[in-house]
Amino acid sequence: MAILITGGCGYIGSHTCIEMIKAGYDIVVIDNYYNSKPEALKRTRELAGKDFPFYECDIRDAEGLKKIFAAHNIEAVIHFAGLKAVGESVSKPLEYFDNNVGGTVTLCEVMRDCGCKRMIFSSSATVYGMKNPSPLNETMEIGGVTNPYGRTKWMVEQVLDDLCYSDPEWSAVKLRYFNPIGAHESGRIGEDPNGIPNNLMPYVSQVAVGKLQQLAVFGDDYDTHDGTGVRDFIHVVDLARGHVKAVAYALAHTGCEAINLGTGHGYSVLDLVKAFEKVNGVKVPYRIAPRREGDIAVCYSDPSKAAKLLGWEAELGLEDMCRDSWRWQSGNPKGYDA
Ligand code: NAD
Ligand code: UDP
Repeated sequence: MAILITGGCGYIGSHTCIEMIKAGYDIVVIDNYYNSKPEALKRTRELAGKDFPFYECDIRDAEGLKKIFAAHNIEAVIHFAGLKAVGESVSKPLEYFDNNVGGTVTLCEVMRDCGCKRMIFSSSATVYGMKNPSPLNETMEIGGVTNPYGRTKWMVEQVLDDLCYSDPEWSAVKLRYFNPIGAHESGRIGEDPNGIPNNLMPYVSQVAVGKLQQLAVFGDDYDTHDGTGVRDFIHVVDLARGHVKAVAYALAHTGCEAINLGTGHGYSVLDLVKAFEKVNGVKVPYRIAPRREGDIAVCYSDPSKAAKLLGWEAELGLEDMCRDSWRWQSGNPKGYDA
């Protein structure tokens, strides 16, 4: 029996492969390398200390997927594969709906036809929209999402709800991630964005390593303790371990559950910058810039459902996240291209 991991060469997927193998699971990985590199797979295999089958395959390729299901006894799927750049989704909505929504529907069809009905899906705190107050919990109404990327997550959540409702054999765990940052403690794998990063931590670490000149802090007039935006940053290894627990849950239960993966603590943009400087002994020059369109002031989780259903809670703190992000960035200034 094996667990199929789609998008397993990406940032969160690569860390999850390692934690799944550590927990004793056999895994099969697929990725189309749209946003990842073979070097990430090579290093993931090294860190896992065990080889595993890999297929260069697109989740929209039903025939390719069927061959993989025929070759392996897959009992559940952890589904990371998707496009994730908010700005790009505004200019390329059709690509986002095709890949994230269409791709997931194709994957689910193949799973159903092959008798595998257990899925762990990468959703996002973005589905809570702009209006729900933090701490965000899973009973809140979702929607009101402001961009196509977020809407693909919201739509796939509906697809999985309807699928589980239609067939009681299905099990789907919709994991709503807060803000994953950090890297494997070895510094060998981490987040390797193309071009100029959109997200805070890769931007901060590229400024610290001298690749970028200065961080723009988007707004210092929010209603928060220092005026900058507050987020629930979570170490990617904690997040990966949450998937290990979610697989065990999906194997033991049917039905559809949304579960937050966050720490429950909010830190501001400047809290993160200061922690990064202190832990790593480096400078992160910044300037205050206007607010970024679509941003909310505060977003953090109520993580109690994950504790209750999965027996999972985040263990690593902001300093661990800053230290590990820096170890990866400083050791690999050009990411996997070095
Ligand atoms: P990533 O881009 O690093 O990883 C995604 C992987 O999927 C990449 O390796 C990419 O090549 C692959 N992929 C994309 N489309 C594919 C397709 N059609 N077929 C096969 N492979 C495909 O992203 P990540 O940060 O590791 O995120 C993983 C998942 O978690 C995504 O679905 C993302 O939307 C979701 N998520 C991420 C965050 C975050 O902040 N990183 C937050 C919430 C949710
Ligand atoms: N942010 C910033 N400068 C940047 C990138 C992000 O000030 O270059 C802020 C952003 O406004 C938000 C927080 O950092 O308050 C987290 O943003 P990110 O894009 O990492 O994640 P989001 O919460 O938007 O998914």
